[in-house]
Amino acid sequence: MTPPAPDCGPGAGNTPPAERRFKGHAASSGCVVAPVLVLSRISPADGVREFQISGARVSSEIARFEEAKKETRRQIEALNDELAASARPEDAAIFEGHAMLLEDEMLHGSIVGRISSGRINAEAAVIRSVKEFRSVFERMSDRYMRERAADLDDLGRRLLANLAGGGDSRFDSIVEPCIIVADDISPSETVSLPKGLVLGFATDRGSVTSHAALIARALGIPAVVGLGNAVRSVQPGDMAALDGDCGELILSPSPATVAAVGDRSAATRGGRRAPQAIGPVSLADGRVVSLSANVQDGIPLASIAESGACGVGLYRSEYLWLRESREPSEDEQAAAYSRVAGYVATSVYPGARTVIRVLDIGGDKLLPGVTPEPNPFLGNRSLRFLLSSPAVFRAQLRAILRASARAPVAVMYPMVATLDELRAANAELGHAMSQLAFAGIPFDPGIRRGAMIELPSAALNAAAIAAETDFLSIGTNDLVQYTLGADRGNDSVAYLYQPLNPAVLKLVDMTARAAAGAGIPVAVCGESASDPVAAAVWVALGVDELSMSCGYVPSIRRALSALSSSALDGLAAEIRRRWDRGTASDMQDFVRGYLSSHVSDPASASLFQLPGNV
Ligand code: PEP
Ligand code: MG
Repeated sequence: MTPPAPDCGPGAGNTPPAERRFKGHAASSGCVVAPVLVLSRISPADGVREFQISGARVSSEIARFEEAKKETRRQIEALNDELAASARPEDAAIFEGHAMLLEDEMLHGSIVGRISSGRINAEAAVIRSVKEFRSVFERMSDRYMRERAADLDDLGRRLLANLAGGGDSRFDSIVEPCIIVADDISPSETVSLPKGLVLGFATDRGSVTSHAALIARALGIPAVVGLGNAVRSVQPGDMAALDGDCGELILSPSPATVAAVGDRSAATRGGRRAPQAIGPVSLADGRVVSLSANVQDGIPLASIAESGACGVGLYRSEYLWLRESREPSEDEQAAAYSRVAGYVATSVYPGARTVIRVLDIGGDKLLPGVTPEPNPFLGNRSLRFLLSSPAVFRAQLRAILRASARAPVAVMYPMVATLDELRAANAELGHAMSQLAFAGIPFDPGIRRGAMIELPSAALNAAAIAAETDFLSIGTNDLVQYTLGADRGNDSVAYLYQPLNPAVLKLVDMTARAAAGAGIPVAVCGESASDPVAAAVWVALGVDELSMSCGYVPSIRRALSALSSSALDGLAAEIRRRWDRGTASDMQDFVRGYLSSHVSDPASASLFQLPGNV
């Protein structure tokens, strides 16, 4: 029997002409209907109107610019003070470039000259001057000077925001419940979304594994990304329906659409409220798979317990840094780790463990104001950054160890590229233990250490890595991007983002075999674990644990409990037989068909037909 297709398209009813649909990628499940708030990137290229001013208005326009400049100076000084308090001299320098540019006499003269001689409004003068200076900086051979171009953009945005009378944040204008529509939202912005007011968001750029999407999942709000050109079509206050399951933003939805979306939203909420099974999931013939939660600072702890997860498989510690835009102290970190691990062990599942991943900064997760490296995903990020900043690394390891004395925690290293890095990280852990032992501070000396497999080099070398760790965790978000060479956040190469590409399947298979050979468990903690099709494939290939955003645990539980391990063994054999002669979409079609016809309960077949990550 063909399972029913989800009610996702315009064919579902009579579409009034005023309704406009934008198709993107389903990034976080759920449906909502609300007014739209458009967050525009204030960019020299678009958005702000240029107009002529009279001679009489010149002095007041210059005064307006001077006021905005003063406010900008105040903001930069405040950011500087905040960073100086973090006691890291390299951080304190971040906004010095902005301050120098702000006081630059040539830039100032150029803006004022455009207002007084060109007789244009202050916003237009700022835009034109920033653009002119930017193109000069960009052409310079000196890398330091080229990087100042990004500082100029930042400074320009700040000046424009202050000219508009607005504060420092794009979110200041949010005062009532809304759906945000934006070009893009950075990870540090996502952590400061005003909770309760932002019911969902839709972005023109981004992909389902971009960090903004992951945060939406963690917050349990619907999100659609990669819409292409929705921002330009939306007027503030337009009503919209956001469908995070089908990946659609529907502007001016018809009453029929509102009713349909409302029904699905009620069904989702009902599903979430239903009493959940808790703990590991048993397949139809007894094999057990652990289901854990991916979390970070700022999510309601109760959502972990409500999900039915049996622990935390990934605590993204970098959000402690991103939320405050500064380095948290060792004490603050120890308190945060103890709080979540204590909750997990007592209120989520008795004795359950929290896997704390050490700072995974870099790539698209930049501290505000940090100038990105030329190629940040291949730069000094994650474990590389920590190994080159031993004071930061040791403070974090000590904080994790201190938490281990209060509740079960494990430490996990992201982006391990080589065995040398793993050894160096383990040595740092040993060093942090010695420091605590010397100071008489308690910790768990048997704390489990895990390595993330996110790079092809780590998967290919998984046997050596497994020999020197206690568990492996496959980060498919990054593994897919580094295997296919396709930026996980770039919608224009989203077609290459293929978790079921044979190359990825082979790397996951190698990793699972290496873990089994070493007698250690292996998890998948990338978002693909929340897709029923991919989750089944990972379990078929030998993965013991799946870790995902809380909201997805119940549906993965339902999907896996409808399968037997003998059916999954058959699936693994078929995958291995086919992977040298098929494309990712051949594989996807085959797996969907196989799973739909091997469920023990026919009603579950539709779970393997929903649009998802794969
Ligand atoms: C991953 O890469 O799959 C992962 C879990 O890490 P993050 O998404 O935080 O990069
Ligand atoms: Mg990663």
